[in-house]
Amino acid sequence: MAEIFDIEKIREQYPILQRTVSGKPLIYLDNAATSQVPRCVVEGIEQMYYTTKANVHRGVHTLSQEATDMVELTREKVRAFLNAASTREIIFTRGTTEAINLVAHSYGDRFVDGDEIILTVMEHHANIVPWQLLQRNKRLKIVVVPINQAGELDIAAYEALFSSRTRFVSVAHASNVLGTVNPVKQIIDIAHSHGVPVLVDGAQATAHMAVDVQALDADFYAFSAHKMYGPSGVGVLYGKEALLADMPPYQGGGEMIGNVSFEGTTFAELPFKFEAGTPDFVDIAAFSRTLDYLQMLGIENIAAHEQTLLEAATAGLQQIPGLTIYGTAAHKHSVLSFLVDGASSYDIGILLDKLGVAVRTGHHCAQPLMRRLGIEGTVRASFAVYNTMHEVEQFIAATARVAKMFARK
Ligand code: PMP
Repeated sequence: MAEIFDIEKIREQYPILQRTVSGKPLIYLDNAATSQVPRCVVEGIEQMYYTTKANVHRGVHTLSQEATDMVELTREKVRAFLNAASTREIIFTRGTTEAINLVAHSYGDRFVDGDEIILTVMEHHANIVPWQLLQRNKRLKIVVVPINQAGELDIAAYEALFSSRTRFVSVAHASNVLGTVNPVKQIIDIAHSHGVPVLVDGAQATAHMAVDVQALDADFYAFSAHKMYGPSGVGVLYGKEALLADMPPYQGGGEMIGNVSFEGTTFAELPFKFEAGTPDFVDIAAFSRTLDYLQMLGIENIAAHEQTLLEAATAGLQQIPGLTIYGTAAHKHSVLSFLVDGASSYDIGILLDKLGVAVRTGHHCAQPLMRRLGIEGTVRASFAVYNTMHEVEQFIAATARVAKMFARK
């Protein structure tokens, strides 16, 4: 089969992929936790440290202005990446987690006793706990959309959860455990027909599919740079301007103010109202190179390559006796969760590591989903643009070998 990319050329951009683990070539299949970073992005970080490190947004000197321009250039590229209407709708955060906390605390300020929030059973803890924290001060009800056997959301059950007290819906674009890609457009349309806004947790989506927040009509969209070939410490919250304008600040400090006095303080315009303190300007500036990189490769090409790997890995694992795959949705992204009879996910993960294969094990910060599946955790392999078919074959062979060890017991 013709390769979409020259994978060897792509891999040259990732020196980490040359290293060994346990004396074996590294096969990095933990991309859903964090992806590796290409040279061009690391060089962006280096360049900023070597030539342009200055605090942003409040300096008249050249370095500060250049640093500010670089951060604002990234903001414009993020706007284009998401097809947002304005850079005022793009807020830099530390990651998806902080973005969701921002919305929960700031938008959630208006919730009152008896209000209801709809989440789904497949949410990451980052999209559960911030909403629960609101329950410390208010009697809010969290209601949960169930899944079917394949790991797809039950949309009829979702529709039935709306009541006159529903105030918010927060849902993952794609599951970090099951790989399910949720029908977020449909989910948003249903919520809007009830006058309810929706936050989409895009942590597992932005590296694998094109996202158009206007086409989705998403009210909020959150993601992390480190899962999409970007630096750590940077995330984005997209929010519709009319909603953000009407929300109170989340954190207070420098950068987010208009005028401060002890009698009272006014707040900066969007998006700065939500960016208290010095942002991670070095990594934000370098993130601009990630967005160029993704555009150069083409997100559709990345998705097609990963889909080929996912299908081959799924077919290979299905042949292994005693192995169960969790998550068989019709529409999946490049995440593959499984367990082997007689072994815990940790057993499998540790043994695969000895064979050079890096996978994630455990509950994947989705304990309610584990409870729903009736298991403690899974082994999760997740693919990125730099993974090869050869690696997938090695992974299948390694898993078969490990599974056999447990079958003998
Ligand atoms: N949501 C989902 C679906 C995730 O997979 C993750 C990361 N595992 C997060 C939220 C949290 O992302 P971060 O830790 O980068 O804030």
